[in-house]
Amino acid sequence: MEFDHIIIRYGELSTKKRNRKSFVDKMKSHIRWAIKDLKHAKVTSSRDRMYVLLNGEDHLEVIQRIKGVYGIQSLSPALKIGRDIEEVKTAALYYFEQLSKRPETFKITTRRSDKDYPYDTNEMNHLIGGHLLINNDGHLKVDVKNPDFNLRIEIRREAVYLTGEIIEGAGGLPFGSSGKAMLMLSGGIDSPVAGFLSMKRGLEVECIHFYSPPFTSERSKQKVIDLAHKLAEVNGTIKLHIVPFTDIQVLIQKQIPENYTMTSTRRLMLRIADAIREKNEGMAIITGESLGQVASQTLESMFAINEVTNTPILRPLITVDKTEIIAMAREMETLEISNQPFEDCCTVFTPASPKTKPRREKVNYYEGFVDFEPMIEKAVQDTETLRISGEKQDNVDETIEDLF
Ligand code: ATP
Ligand code: MG
Repeated sequence: MEFDHIIIRYGELSTKKRNRKSFVDKMKSHIRWAIKDLKHAKVTSSRDRMYVLLNGEDHLEVIQRIKGVYGIQSLSPALKIGRDIEEVKTAALYYFEQLSKRPETFKITTRRSDKDYPYDTNEMNHLIGGHLLINNDGHLKVDVKNPDFNLRIEIRREAVYLTGEIIEGAGGLPFGSSGKAMLMLSGGIDSPVAGFLSMKRGLEVECIHFYSPPFTSERSKQKVIDLAHKLAEVNGTIKLHIVPFTDIQVLIQKQIPENYTMTSTRRLMLRIADAIREKNEGMAIITGESLGQVASQTLESMFAINEVTNTPILRPLITVDKTEIIAMAREMETLEISNQPFEDCCTVFTPASPKTKPRREKVNYYEGFVDFEPMIEKAVQDTETLRISGEKQDNVDETIEDLF
């Protein structure tokens, strides 16, 4: 006996009536993509569920692959069997033995849409429950109120279905269902985490990275490319816009008083990021900022920096402590890459004592002596755009759109 399908539930999606169809289609294609080399598995959907028909593929492998797909609330392996009571008993025992964690208590819940079946729901609960008890010599108890495991049996005219184990999914909304935003991706710990959280909430993300050769090395650029590979695992591919920032940084060093260079640098990054966003039809900019973490992330700094645009700036980590961010980065497998010691363009030019409470009037006054506009245009023009593929799918250039 083997599990033959997996039930997929999508919680929050069910409430979003209007966009429902496009949400479900997006999720379906992501699930298909995650298991596309398991050739026999098929993905189907009904009104409020999705199913993977295994056709002989290993259920654990499939679950492992799809449980990270955003939008999935939970998963359950399931069996479709014949109506013979002996077959139901065998299947119940099989289900029980496959559980990842041995329960101490259980119950059986039977539903019967076929009223002609020879046993009613109570009889079924007793028959199957008894069979599990006999085969678990005294280690197992029935608990109808709060069982560790609830085996669900559904009797229909065409077959009997068994399910019960509930495996938590990634949650969130399907990638791309919330629109597009640009992630300002540095080589640090925070911004990749901000990227994952945004994608989990359904955003399609494109990355923007500022680099300043020769002050920053090829290796620091490679580090950002490696991080983008990680982010690309979510959707199979991600765009990375690499902005040459040296000229502007050098000019800032020359023209702006030292304690305001950081504020100005951030403002110019934001102006350029916004121009790239507009060109690529994004609707927001995402950063890895966390309140009070460094001088540029005080409220006063954000107030001074944010002045240059009214595009929404999304800061998923704004209230998250560094220790928690580190734990998230570890879980998302970006920590090790971020921890590599290569310098970032901001680190190189960081002044000894950046203003933690910059003022808008002052920064506007200092910037008023220089016309940055042509340099911004040039930086946008010279931006190199890479299409980065997801690491897990080596040698695969297909993207979800190509596949379906
Ligand atoms: P991170 O760990 O993400 O680098 P951080 O704590 O080092 O963050 P900052 O260096 O102040 O903080 O950067 C704040 C945010 O500004 C980053 O999270 C990122 O979104 C953006 N940012 C900083 N440097 C760059 C860069 N070189 N290219 C693109 N975005 C950047
Ligand atoms: Mg940084």
